[in-house]
Amino acid sequence: MSNNGVNGREDEINRKRRHTSDEITAFRELEEDEDNELLSLSLSFRPSRGRRISSPGNSHSQQPSLTLPSPPRPPISQSVQQSSMSIMQNLLRKPPPQLTLQPSPSHQIYIPSLSMSSQPVVYHEPEPQPAPRQTRTRRNPTQAPGEGKSDTIPAPYPWSTNRRATVHNLEYLLSKRISTISGEVQCKRCEKQYEMEYYLRERFDAVATYLLEKKSGMHERAPSIWMNPVLPTCRFCEQENSAKPVISKKREINWLFLLLGQSIGCCTLDQLKYFCKHTRNHRTGAKDRILYLAYLTLCKQLVPSGPFNC
Ligand SMILES: [Zn+2]
Repeated sequence: MSNNGVNGREDEINRKRRHTSDEITAFRELEEDEDNELLSLSLSFRPSRGRRISSPGNSHSQQPSLTLPSPPRPPISQSVQQSSMSIMQNLLRKPPPQLTLQPSPSHQIYIPSLSMSSQPVVYHEPEPQPAPRQTRTRRNPTQAPGEGKSDTIPAPYPWSTNRRATVHNLEYLLSKRISTISGEVQCKRCEKQYEMEYYLRERFDAVATYLLEKKSGMHERAPSIWMNPVLPTCRFCEQENSAKPVISKKREINWLFLLLGQSIGCCTLDQLKYFCKHTRNHRTGAKDRILYLAYLTLCKQLVPSGPFNC
């Protein structure tokens, strides 16, 4: 199968993105501080995230009827499995939105090497999304600077709330037919930047199961697999452990994407402290402690009634 056409299109997109990225970088120096954004308010361009090729079709209406089979799971203890299942079942009393995603032939399937996350990852071509992204807005430059940080911000992603470092719960997301979570990654080797996405339910199930199974042995510290995440293989140069999540401004960190990729550990200590600060976890300590809290807190945001208490 020839991918020349696809690659050509992607290269084109990447060139455009890089161009935009350069422009952003030039201005980003002006907004080193996450609250110093007023300087960049008059920018007329949008980050590449907003660019999307639209097509008349809606992905839901194009769903094939084939139901996604249950992905293979690593062996887990019965109690954990039941616990995890009950979370899902309680949450999903209503019929779940169709989970009938069928990768098109142009998709590549990535099977992570992590045993606890053997869920498929779909590399995403620029095509319609289940849910439209919200247009991101910046504060009006004519507004006077506030006296302090506001608690609310424009939601940076459809799966984010307008509270910093906070995502919608799973029930809400599935009710809105948000079944995949996308994010930007950049290869550490060839440096190409592109978008990939995870299936929300499958990946969350894997993370939650792993957390609940291992929690008692973690002693409130993130295990090494979270401290040093195994990254996806680059879609372009096929370098293993190389597609690193792009993390820019703190308020725009794609926390749910990082959770599903079990790559929150790519954040710096400072970024993790930002998360804890805005999610009422006023704890200090080494990175492994704060990282553990970040995983736990995000799982709790997704399933507020679940067993994810600190
Ligand atoms: Zn690469």
